Amino acid sequence: MEFIDQVLDPNGDTAITLTHPTSNFLVWDTGEHNPSVSGVADRHAAGSEENVVPGLTSYLVSSTRLGKHSRYYENIFKPDKWREGSKTEDGYYALTTQDFDPEAFLLFQEILNESQHSLPERVSPEMLAMLAKIVDYHCCQDAVPVRKWYAKWIGWMFGRGKPKRYERDAILWLCIAVVFQDVPEFRRTLKVVLSTCQGWICEPEDVPAGVLHLLQAINDATGDTIEGLLDLLARFRSRDYLCPCVPATSFSCAALMLGSLIKWMDEVGIPIVEGDENPFPRSSVSKICRDLMRAKKVEFSEPGFPPAHRCRLANHISPIAVKLQRKVNELRILKRRFD
Ligand SMILES: [Zn+2]
Repeated sequence: MEFIDQVLDPNGDTAITLTHPTSNFLVWDTGEHNPSVSGVADRHAAGSEENVVPGLTSYLVSSTRLGKHSRYYENIFKPDKWREGSKTEDGYYALTTQDFDPEAFLLFQEILNESQHSLPERVSPEMLAMLAKIVDYHCCQDAVPVRKWYAKWIGWMFGRGKPKRYERDAILWLCIAVVFQDVPEFRRTLKVVLSTCQGWICEPEDVPAGVLHLLQAINDATGDTIEGLLDLLARFRSRDYLCPCVPATSFSCAALMLGSLIKWMDEVGIPIVEGDENPFPRSSVSKICRDLMRAKKVEFSEPGFPPAHRCRLANHISPIAVKLQRKVNELRILKRRFD
């Protein structure tokens, strides 16, 4: 028993040791590497080795309670799946886990072991997000005590206000909403992020897998849109461009389309530099969506063009707009699993 730091159940039969504990979660660099203004190379800003703090913490817990509330633990304690080999000299199941915040892991074990007398009345968004990561890893989002304490703590957080722009707190709220399957909070926070994050969104590697998947999907949607517009620029510049309305006017048609598209992209803040490895949009996903939908109607009205020529820039941009809108609509669906 000497090696136990935290006794969650005095009659417990399992000793869990937290190795490689981390002190920080979702590091947010507000300097020159601010994820909201940096590019692809800086999208993986968080989760560095610098967050690791030395030391071990051991918890005495009940395998019965862990298995009751967590599919992860239920699987571990199945007799035919017990891979840790042997028990300790004192007869305990010996488990190790790593890369979690010690305080959040203690909260987690207190909830699962139903030693709730010591649980706080309120927790910060950061603590709830760190807890969400642990809950997600151990597959116990639906456990009754987990739902009970989530409802209590999120209720208190509502009173403190919710993030209104793309910032660290918004990503913390996304972590919480995704893991605890809180659809209203997920949609509200996602809307805030999509409408206020200008440029690439951060992709911190220490967030729950579902959140990282979501953030990557947002960047993919933006990247695909930029790529589609750059392809369109290349098509208008190509010598092989053929006006679909009046082939004889292909040169003039391409020139007008090319100029209009460059002008439009410049105005809405989408990079027009082809071959740039890190094109940085100065616009949010929501604004790009709106701008694409409102693509200016460009028509030939100069003397000499035959009236049958009805090429419009919107015709070319529309498929890109529809594709982005479809992806944004898919992002709004809070998925149960992301693999
Ligand atoms: Zn044309």
